[in-house]
Amino acid sequence: MKKIALLVPLYNEQEVLPLFWQKTQQVIQSVEDFCFEYIFVNDGSTDDTLRLLKDLADGNTPVKIISLARNFGKEAALTAGLAQAAKADATIVLDADLQDPPELIIDFVEKFKQGYDTIYACRKDRQKDSFFKRVSAGAFYRVYNALAERPIPPDAGDCRLISRRVAEAVLSLPERERFMKGLFSWVGFKTTSVAYVRPERAAGKTKWNYWKLWNFALSGITASGSLPLKLWTYFGLALSVFAFIYAMIVAGKKIFLGNPVSGYSSLMVTILFFSGVQLISLGVIGEYLGRIFVEVKARPPYIVDEKINCDD
Ligand code: UDP
Ligand code: MG
Repeated sequence: MKKIALLVPLYNEQEVLPLFWQKTQQVIQSVEDFCFEYIFVNDGSTDDTLRLLKDLADGNTPVKIISLARNFGKEAALTAGLAQAAKADATIVLDADLQDPPELIIDFVEKFKQGYDTIYACRKDRQKDSFFKRVSAGAFYRVYNALAERPIPPDAGDCRLISRRVAEAVLSLPERERFMKGLFSWVGFKTTSVAYVRPERAAGKTKWNYWKLWNFALSGITASGSLPLKLWTYFGLALSVFAFIYAMIVAGKKIFLGNPVSGYSSLMVTILFFSGVQLISLGVIGEYLGRIFVEVKARPPYIVDEKINCDD
């Protein structure tokens, strides 16, 4: 029988874990032709998550646990889990908070049987999100897809089924900045989606705030390609042409009209504008430099504290 691994990252999810387990167990019992295993990645939880995980086991479904040495973030946790999951025929990535409804497993398996390698869950609408969240998410996907070498589908999270070859391909990418949505989409293969309505978190609290989301978006965009770096060349060129023409006008006025003291405002505007532009472009270089630094250090993306029931 083909095996599907359910990959679940958890960071302080003691409130929702029992619900998640109950719901998912129900769903997988209704799926025929496949057997399942859980791969829980405890991402440095400081609550009772790890103890609860260790108590989970129903005798039928294998439960593997990878506990990380501290909180490394969801992307690292997914990478850690994928290293285990890649041995199964397919992996399904689920959040622990039931925002990726376990019923999706049924649709995923259906499409997997039809021969798809990646089936991602795509949100039907964002009506439940706040106005700010909707606008910022929309802007992120537009900017990302305009700049990236390979676009990602808007309104899709990490929740998806990937075949073993996709999992292995993603694992073979050596970078430390792991924007998983970008990596999943970069590797390619036959892809489709299923639409779903994203429910509210079943219990517990979100681990994200706007500052974290902003940095996550930056790391995604800088990891997606180098266009933000190159844009400055063209922006600079356009500005230089403009500056040259303006310089001609100023010089012309001085020579022919002999107009020595004017231009305080134009001077101020020019200085402020160009200092702004220069700082922004330096900032963009800084973003990339910081990430190159991280890649060059080549630290592992996560450190494992403990593995339970894992093969190696
Ligand atoms: N998560 C994690 N490490 C983190 C943050 C989150 O493993 O540093 C897990 C979390 O436990 C959950 C999933 O990633 O299973 C999604 O997190 P959350 O629900 O907080 O994100 P949101 O749905 O609000 O975007
Ligand atoms: Mg959530």
